[in-house]
Amino acid sequence: QWTGLNELREKFLEFFESKEHLRLGSFSLIPQGDNSLLLINSGMAPMKKYFTGEVTPPKNRVTTCQKCIRTGDIENVGYTARHGTFFEMLGNFSFGDYFKREAIAWAWEFFTEVLEMPKDKLYPSVYMEDDEAWDIWVNEIGVDESHMKRLGKEDNFWEHGSGPCGPCSEIYFDRGEKYGCGKPDCGVGCECDRYVEIWNLVFSQFNNDGQGNYTDLVQKNIDTGMGLERLACVMQGVDNLFLVDTVQNIMKHVSKISGVEYGGSERNDVSLRVITDHIRSTVFMIGDGVLPSNEGRGYVLRRLLRRAARHGKLLGINGPFLSELADTVIRENQKAYPELTEKRDTIKKIISYEEDSFAKTIDQGLALLNTFIDQADSKVFSGEHAFTLNDTYGFPLDLTKEILEERGMAVDEERFRELMREQKERARNARKDAGADAWKGEGSAASGLPATVFTGYTELCSAAKVI
Ligand code: ATP
Ligand code: MG
Ligand code: MG
Ligand code: MG
Repeated sequence: QWTGLNELREKFLEFFESKEHLRLGSFSLIPQGDNSLLLINSGMAPMKKYFTGEVTPPKNRVTTCQKCIRTGDIENVGYTARHGTFFEMLGNFSFGDYFKREAIAWAWEFFTEVLEMPKDKLYPSVYMEDDEAWDIWVNEIGVDESHMKRLGKEDNFWEHGSGPCGPCSEIYFDRGEKYGCGKPDCGVGCECDRYVEIWNLVFSQFNNDGQGNYTDLVQKNIDTGMGLERLACVMQGVDNLFLVDTVQNIMKHVSKISGVEYGGSERNDVSLRVITDHIRSTVFMIGDGVLPSNEGRGYVLRRLLRRAARHGKLLGINGPFLSELADTVIRENQKAYPELTEKRDTIKKIISYEEDSFAKTIDQGLALLNTFIDQADSKVFSGEHAFTLNDTYGFPLDLTKEILEERGMAVDEERFRELMREQKERARNARKDAGADAWKGEGSAASGLPATVFTGYTELCSAAKVI
C-alpha cells in the first residue's frame, strides 16, 4: 500500500515506541569523539559508546531515524536504484537488553502486520555460521527455507571501523523479474536491483580493537538499520530512490531548472539523479556545520557540490542553480528536520559562494581538460595536468578521474600525489617563514573551526571497500 516517506518514518518510530523503545532525534552527521569515521554512516555509529558500555544510554532500548552520508557509495549513485550518498536510516537498538529472537520477530511483525507487506516477497539472509538466526527464521517465524539464504562475511558480518560488530541477518524484498539481471543465479545477494536489501539486523556481540582483534562484548546488543528511502521505494512501487515522493519533488525542481524531463534518456537521468542526491547531502552536511575546504569532511562537501555543478552543465544549465534547489530540499525535509529552515540563509550562502567560485573556472577547466585529452598519446592522463586542473581550476581529482573514465582514460595518480606533496611542502616552508599563526585556518572557508585532518583521498578511496 502506498505510504509517504514521512508517514513511514513515523510508523517505524511509533512501532518501536510501542515496544518500549525511547525515541531519540537524529545525531549530527559529524561524529563526536570518534576519529575512525569522517561522517556518520549508520544509525549505530553515533551510539558506539552505548554499545561498548563506555557511556550509559538514556534507556536500554532506543529507536532513531539517523541522517547518514556514505561517500563510498558515490560511484553507485545515479546508476543503481538503491544508493544515495545521503539517506536516512531507521533503527532499533538494544544495549544489553533483548537479542536475536525479539529483533527478528519485531522486524517481521513490522513488515507483515504494520506495513502489510506480502510475505512471499520477503527473503531473509543470515550469516553463514549463524544457525541460531536461521532456526529462529525458519522454525519460530515460519519462513520457508526456499526464501532463506546464508551469506558470507562481506554481506552478513557488520563492522565499520573499530568498535562493536557481529553477524547480521538482512531482509530483502523481491521487486520482481522486470528489475532482474536475468542471470540464472540471480537471487538474494545479487548486485542487480531485483532483490533489494532493505533491513539489516545486526547482532553485535564482539568488539574490534581496530587491529582486527575481536573480543566478546560484556553485553549483547541489537543494532538494526533500514534505509528509509529504500523502504519508501518498495512501498511506493517506484523504480528507484529518487522517485520516492519527497525526493522526487527535488528532482522535479532540477527538471524545471534544466528543462530536461526525467525518463527521456539514460544519460540525462543519471545527471538528474546525481544532482538530486548531491544537493540533499550537501544541504544536510552544511546544516550540521560542515564547510567546503580541501580536506576531510570539507573536501567531501566540496567534491559533492562541484560534481553536482558539473552534472548541471551536462544538462545544459547555465548559471548557478544549486542554492535555489536547496530551498526545495529544506521544504521537503522541514517536517523531520525543522532546524534546516532556521539555517536556510547560511546553507544557501555557503552553496552560492562555493558554486560561484567554481563557476569562474569550470568552463575554462573543462575546455582545458578536453584539450589535454585530445593531446594525450596514451590512455594515461598525466599527473601534471591533473594537478593543474586541481590547483588552478578547482577540479577535485575524483572529478577529473570521473570525466576521464567516461572517455576510457586513467590518471597517473602517483605523479599527481607527488606534486600535491611538493606543494604542501612549499606551503609548509612558507608558513615557517610567515610564522605559524598567520596561516591558521588555511584551506577552510571560515576560520574558528576545529582543524580537520586531511583524510579525503584515503577515506574516499577506501570507504567503498569498508562499507
Ligand atoms: P547495499 O549492499 O545495498 O549497498 P549495505 O549492505 O551496504 O547495502 P548496510 O550497511 O547494511 O547497507 O546498511 C543498512 C541499510 O541502510 C541497508 O539495508 C539499506 O536499507 C540502507 N542503505 C545502505 N546504504 C545505502 C545507500 N547508499 N543509500 C540508501 N540506503 C542505504
Ligand atoms: Mg549489503
Ligand atoms: Mg547490509
Ligand atoms: Mg553498501
